[in-house]
Amino acid sequence: MSLGGRLLATGRTTITERLVAEASGYLRNVVHESYMTCAVCATPIKSTFDLCLRCRRDQHEFGDDLADLVVPLCYGIRGRQSGYLMHSYKDLEAPAKHNQTLLSMLLLAALECHGGCIEHRLGRNVDAWTFVPSVRSDRTGEHPLHVVAKRAAGVALPEIELMAAEHLDPQQRTTRADRFILAANSDVRDRHILLFEDTWTSGGNAQSAALTLRRGDAASVTILALARWLKPEEPPTGEFVSSRLTEDYDPLVCPVSGQHCSGD
Ligand SMILES: [Zn+2]
Ligand SMILES: [Zn+2]
Repeated sequence: MSLGGRLLATGRTTITERLVAEASGYLRNVVHESYMTCAVCATPIKSTFDLCLRCRRDQHEFGDDLADLVVPLCYGIRGRQSGYLMHSYKDLEAPAKHNQTLLSMLLLAALECHGGCIEHRLGRNVDAWTFVPSVRSDRTGEHPLHVVAKRAAGVALPEIELMAAEHLDPQQRTTRADRFILAANSDVRDRHILLFEDTWTSGGNAQSAALTLRRGDAASVTILALARWLKPEEPPTGEFVSSRLTEDYDPLVCPVSGQHCSGD
């Protein structure tokens, strides 16, 4: 089945309108522009390359074993409300529930309007979903990202289970194929896996999870990140935030192409 268009048109409108009313004033669409933002992760770059340094290094080391496509939905900006949202949705305090609902709407609106764009780009429908598990051993209970992703994708698609390997240092952010393992009952062979991440900072954990799916013979991997983390105090990010991220979040701006798109 296709990812987009699962809701009736009225349901889709309700979700996008609610999302716009609640959060478009402070969320920002990602910018896809050659030599302005990284072609993989959409971080601002000042470079004669089209990838940021980190994505270039991973590309050099792992090549086609990395995710086929990385789709951040918005920017999480440190010190701004979008940054607060990405931290606070994981809190155990009361606002977390509301913020989880908000992020579920962000995700559901993106899948509804642009799930078909992801499938079109890779030439095949998504077959299953999973998420980047926590590498911290002190986290107990259901991961908040699982709560959010399951609400948006879980009804339509089967879930694949990834687990963090036990021997690794959670502080270490390098991309490596042994950071995660596939659960014994999770078969990814010849499937297009949608891999959810909450905040993409270096991409190390998300790309490590993509490598694990690849080693399990997944046909395609798309990483869908709720937010690409930005630190405005680091050049050229500050200038990019103030000059380019001036417009409110529009759910119809395509997170795959950067163009306005109805997704139909
Ligand atoms: Zn990058
Ligand atoms: Zn689209």
